[in-house]
Amino acid sequence: MIKTDVVVIGAGPVGLFAVHQLGIIGLKAEVIDNLDKIGGQCIELYPDKPIYDIPAIPECTGESLTKSLLEQIKPFKANFHLNERVQAVSKDNNIWKVETSKNKVFAASNIIIAGGVGSFEPRKFSIKDIEKFENKGVFYSVKNKNDFKNKKVCIFGGGDSALDWAIELSKISEVILIHRRNEFRGTQHSTQIIKKLEKEGKIKVKTPYQINSIEGKDQLESITIKNEDGKTETVRTDCVLGFFGLIMKLGPIAEWGLNLEKKTIPVNTENFQTNKVGIFAIGDICTYPGKLKLILSGFHEGALAARACFKIAKPNETYRFEYTTTSKRIQERLGVKKSD
Ligand SMILES: Cc1cc2nc3c(=O)[nH]c(=O)nc-3n(C[C@H](O)[C@H](O)[C@H](O)COP(=O)(O)OP(=O)(O)OC[C@H]3O[C@@H](n4cnc5c(N)ncnc54)[C@H](O)[C@@H]3O)c2cc1C
Repeated sequence: MIKTDVVVIGAGPVGLFAVHQLGIIGLKAEVIDNLDKIGGQCIELYPDKPIYDIPAIPECTGESLTKSLLEQIKPFKANFHLNERVQAVSKDNNIWKVETSKNKVFAASNIIIAGGVGSFEPRKFSIKDIEKFENKGVFYSVKNKNDFKNKKVCIFGGGDSALDWAIELSKISEVILIHRRNEFRGTQHSTQIIKKLEKEGKIKVKTPYQINSIEGKDQLESITIKNEDGKTETVRTDCVLGFFGLIMKLGPIAEWGLNLEKKTIPVNTENFQTNKVGIFAIGDICTYPGKLKLILSGFHEGALAARACFKIAKPNETYRFEYTTTSKRIQERLGVKKSD
């Protein structure tokens, strides 16, 4: 069991800044995210796009904002638990217990839900028995490309992820790229490389084909693919990778007994607490009259929620408002070197 002051659910920009606001007032946080990377929508949906409305930063990208937020919270050494979805939340003697999909259990007096639009999950194949092979031959992301080394890999999809991984894995494995349309949606540059690799015989391309069935006992052995005329073909393969984009699901958050309003969590704007004492919601996932789904609003919400967490985490201490500019205590927590 991992004990902490606050469990932050969601490592998007708002969850990250909440770690800062908790850190400067002396609260420890553990951050959990379902994605394999930190940054939420900024990293998953628009890493290279410019953002023009972060206060005092005239222009940054989703990626550079995430990097800066991470730099800003470095002194607080928060632990990140990625690739883990928070499944269940329960209360035991005024302590919240948070359980993840990897069976980790956290105990904390407070939870801050910064879950955005819910957890991002890959869109999956919709054929019979496919779940049986998930993570045992059928994958929706590449964690370590060497897992596919010297194997026969069928990659499905027509967007950038499918093309980029087809190009990358063709260097170490036997790749067949399969797409339901003749045209790819990925960049022109990636499409040209695929065509070149196909000409050189370094990759096979099968379009317009879709997966039709999957075969194997304990282990994936082959798949059949079908074209528009209904013609099927059997392909022996070791692995199948599907890149069909991500869907956002509110997921288990809906089961935690919180009031919900159109897939968002109503909060009280004094401290961003939900209908449960000690559970706060900030960022895109919360709602209140006048809510703006903007990063800057989430930063403000995190600042207030953090102060409310203090009162619950340290009931015998009095919270004192201090400026970072002048507080020695905050500067010590930030590791700022003292100057005379
Ligand atoms: C294309 C685009 C452009 C945008 N441009 C701007 C802009 O210019 N300015 C601006 O202010 N805003 C912009 N936004 C909106 C901005 O990205 C969001 O307001 C912001 O990302 C919200 O941050 P968040 O931390 O609340 O949530 P998110 O960024 O959505 O992060 C939430 C995280 O929580 C995780 N999560 C959810 N449920 C669970 C669970 N059960 N277990 C574990 N993890 C979970 C998710 O995986 C996700 O990583 C833009 C959005 C898009 C899509």
